Order: sequence, then C-alpha cells, then structure tokens
Amino acid sequence: MLVADTFANAQEYSEQAIKVMKQRAIPSTPSNFTIWYDYVSGKNPHLTTAINDIISGDGLFSAEVSNELYTNFYLTDKQQSENIHEAGDKLQKTLKHVIEQISEAGSDTENYGEKIASLAIDISETISGQEGSTSLKDFVAEIVRETATITEKNRALQGQLQQSSNEISSLQQNLEKVRTESLTDALTQIGNRKHFDNKLIEETKSSIEENSELCLLLMDIDHFKKFNDTYGHRVGDEVLKVVARMIKSAVKGQDTPARYGGEEFTCILPNTSLHDAASLADQIREKISKQVLKNKKTGQGFGRITLSIGVSKYVREEPLEGFVQRADEALYRAKDQGRNRVIKEIS
Ligand code: GH3
Ligand code: MG
Ligand code: MG
Repeated sequence: MLVADTFANAQEYSEQAIKVMKQRAIPSTPSNFTIWYDYVSGKNPHLTTAINDIISGDGLFSAEVSNELYTNFYLTDKQQSENIHEAGDKLQKTLKHVIEQISEAGSDTENYGEKIASLAIDISETISGQEGSTSLKDFVAEIVRETATITEKNRALQGQLQQSSNEISSLQQNLEKVRTESLTDALTQIGNRKHFDNKLIEETKSSIEENSELCLLLMDIDHFKKFNDTYGHRVGDEVLKVVARMIKSAVKGQDTPARYGGEEFTCILPNTSLHDAASLADQIREKISKQVLKNKKTGQGFGRITLSIGVSKYVREEPLEGFVQRADEALYRAKDQGRNRVIKEIS
C-alpha cells in the first residue's frame, strides 16, 4: 500500500541503518544512508538480495561496491533520461554538421559559378584582343580543371552526406530504443510508473477534449510479502510477470496497463464508465484468483494469489492526484473488507 513509514518506524530504521554502517565501517554519506535505510526496513527485496549476496561473499562494502549499489537501485531512471539526452544531443550535432556541409556545397558551387563567369570575361577579352589560340587553349584547360575539381568535391560531399544520413538513422533508432526502455518496466515488460504518469496526463486531456468517461484501476497483490517469505523473491518475481501478462491480456489496445511499483499495478481505461471499469476489474480479479501457480519444470505448486482492486472515475478538470487518490482509497477499503475484491470510489 502507498503508506509512508510512521515516525517511530522511520526513527528505528534510521538508527539501525547508522548502526550497521558503523559496524561495517561504511562512510555515512547520504547515498549510503539511503541504501542501508532501505535494507534494514526490508522495503526493496532486490536490494536486500543484492546486499545479502555481498555479505555472504567477502562482506566488503568498498566505495566502488556502494556506488554500484546506489547506481543500480536508485539512479536507473535518471541515467536513462541522461542517455536520452545524450542521444538527442548527438543527433542535433550530426544534423548541424549536415547543414554545414550543405551550405558549404552551396558556396563551392557559387565560387565555381564566379570562376566560370570571370573566365568567360577573360575569354571574350582575349578573343577581342586577338591574342592567339595558345592562350584560349589555356583558358579552356583551366575550365576543365575547375570542373574536375568541383566534380571531385561534389563526389566527396555526397559520400559524407550518405555517411551522415546513416549516422542519423542509427541515432534515431537508438533514441527510440532508449525511449521505449525508459518507459518499460524491466521485470514485467509492461509500462512503468513514468509511462503511467505520462499517459495519465494524455488521457485526462483527451477525456476533457472529447467529453468522454475515463476510469482508473489500482491493483495490489494480497499478502505478497507472505508469498515471498514462503517461496522466495525469485518465485515472487515470476508471479509478478504472470500477473502483468494476465492484466495486459485482459484489456484492450486503448487501455494502459502499467506497473505502479512493487506488487502494485494500474490500468487507465479511456471511454469507460465506472460500472464497466469495475466489471473489467472483477474479471481480472477472478481470472488471477483462479490461476494455479506452479513451476513448469519441477511441477512444484505455489498455490494461488489474489488481487484487491480500487476503481475511480475522472472528474473533469480535477487535479490528477485526486483521481489517483480515490482509486487508492477504494483499494484500501478493498483490503480492509477482506481483500480479493473490487471496490468502487465513493461517489
Ligand atoms: P497486502 O495484502 O496488505 O497488500 O499485503 P502485502 O504483503 O502484499 O503488502 P506489503 O506492502 O506489506 O508488502 C509488499 C510486499 O511486496 C513486500 C515485498 O516482499 C513484495 N514486493 C514488492 N516488490 C517486489 C518485487 O519486485 N519482487 C518481489 N518478489 N516482491 C516484491
Ligand atoms: Mg502494496
Ligand atoms: Mg500487497
């Protein structure tokens, strides 16, 4: 659930984090504190696994190891956006280069034109001055040389333009790939929180413009901590993938399913009434509750899991937080009333 730590909990985690850092001689920097606070609170199972692996290895948290942990677990989004930025910069530089080359080609042609014009004047002066055919031959030879030079330059330029255009298309492909990756949840391969945030802005705008109904589902796996504790996080991860797949397959192309965070999923439903959104939510809930989970290779069974779902409907021009919060409150009530159920916002 989306509930922050209570003050007492936060204080306890802080003290524990500082104690562990002292014991392990880890410098008390803000980034180290973030890592160890999350570790002692057990909030981030992947971080817990990574740290436990180090502890059961050499147990040393050198500056490099700490940096790597921080980068892997906290900087991912930032780095991805930096990558996008970098790719965008490269693209712009390459375009600038191409534009320079094109204007250079223009000025070369202009120079060539001027040269020809001045040669023409020279020729006419030569002919009117009756200077003889030797000089005329020289002028013609110079025209031929100039033409050869400009042809050669154009050929080289064409090669450069071709190379730049290849570079641009490969940069564009990279940029597209990085963009898609930055909006996809690495584990479940559905949209991530950033994708959800972007889409929510887009869909609420369309709903206002088209005067259409828009609903939101917030889904949270019931007692998932217990599931992880019983079968391990790796099995838990597989279950998250299954749940994501089932949600995705239950909705239509215009809908946006996404991983909201941890064991929470969401789905934006354009052109959908509250009643229809709740019945779709119930179909998802039922489908997942009936799914028998087992390891295909070993046949080991992991029982079943259930989802609690909160549903809200967008009120024209309200702040987005209100729309999300009503789904969250409904989800909270679904938990409170016994879980494995769908609850609509109070309207
Ligand atoms: P509730 O029914 O109230 O939602 O109980 P819960 O145990 O599901 O909720 P709680 O918020 O107490 O714990 C959420 C758990 O979800 C903690 C963690 O073990 C698990 N979890 C969160 N993210 C991941 C993940 O990426 N992988 C795995 N395997 N587990 C995760
Ligand atoms: Mg939760
Ligand atoms: Mg849960």
